[in-house]
Amino acid sequence: MKPSLLDYTQKELIELIKPKFRVKQIYGWLYHQYAENFEDMKNIPKAMKEELTQKYVVNPLKIVNKEVSSDGTIKYLLELQDGKTMEAVWLKMKEQQVDCNGEITQEARYSICVSTQVGCKVGCSFCLTAKGGFTRDLTAGEIVAQVVTLKRDNNHKHNRKINIVYMGMGEPLDNLANLAKAIEIFKEEEGLAIGGKRQTVSTSGLSNQIDKLGAMDLGVHIAISLHAVDDELRTELIPMNKAHNIDSIIEAVKRFPIDTRKRVMFEYLVIKNKNDDLGSAKKLVKLLSDIKAKVNLIYFNPYPGTEYDRPERKDMVAFQEYLINHGLLCTIRDSKGIDISAACGQLKEKTEGEI
Ligand code: SAH
Ligand code: SF4
Repeated sequence: MKPSLLDYTQKELIELIKPKFRVKQIYGWLYHQYAENFEDMKNIPKAMKEELTQKYVVNPLKIVNKEVSSDGTIKYLLELQDGKTMEAVWLKMKEQQVDCNGEITQEARYSICVSTQVGCKVGCSFCLTAKGGFTRDLTAGEIVAQVVTLKRDNNHKHNRKINIVYMGMGEPLDNLANLAKAIEIFKEEEGLAIGGKRQTVSTSGLSNQIDKLGAMDLGVHIAISLHAVDDELRTELIPMNKAHNIDSIIEAVKRFPIDTRKRVMFEYLVIKNKNDDLGSAKKLVKLLSDIKAKVNLIYFNPYPGTEYDRPERKDMVAFQEYLINHGLLCTIRDSKGIDISAACGQLKEKTEGEI
């Protein structure tokens, strides 16, 4: 597998490719024009392109399947150079606003949900990605390429704002070095210029890695996939909770550097008759009592063969109301792309059959 030009920061490319002004041009091709190959780079001399082709690829991803939902969500199955596949999702967060003269007053807002691994080692019992086991980490370039590829496919100009959520396949903090590098590359001013504030790392709670990410001071947000309020149920859902229990996660979150105006997001996957009762809501309030937190309730999204059920809407609403009435900010995640293969791992499963 050849490295991709998307694997490197601009500073690193300046070390690798001479003269420097060519790197500036190439950088423009990569992040402003979303070049897919060296052929696309019109103002780069042929001899240089031939030399670079020997060592590098431009974009290491190929779109192999795409499902478009009626709500604007687009789910992509992407193939890597070694033929392995993973998913990324284009999410419409806010509709375009138009005034009475038909002028656009605010462009639509989008987020991209990216994967960090092919498969996952954590093995959550409710997650389809976990069923296929772990294949490999994604490189920084393969993480970066998901955003470049999706922006290109949606004609989304480089300077239009976009949010990145690391909530696709894999556990981001189990691939910390490549994750951190991708975060840095996204932040590059002459590249996509996506600040840390626009990037959210979702983790199943590797508490020691939360500390390491915090120490890197990248300015990103974190979201904690909590899902349960007692260690017994959490270990059933997320086996590595044995090593990183709820208390250790809460303590790590308290140490994490966050903008004082911001809140840490706790994701709570609601499963029917497992964790959808008000007793759990009460414990959740207590658990988060001295953290600036907000809670995002997620409907469990069933798939064939799962032992779990989607919760009732009335129970979701009662759970949310309890939290709000007890001073917690709480939203219910609207199931974007419900008419396509919405939850992570489901498009891969559908396209490739048994994984
Ligand atoms: N590994 C990280 C990020 C990827 S998973 C993490 O666990 O946080 C992203 C989110 O998808 C998690 O919050 C996870 O709970 C959720 N998820 C996984 N399977 C799901 C399912 N079947 N229905 C709904 N959400 C699911
Ligand atoms: Fe991995 Fe996240 Fe799925 Fe758990 S929910 S198996 S951590 S991808």
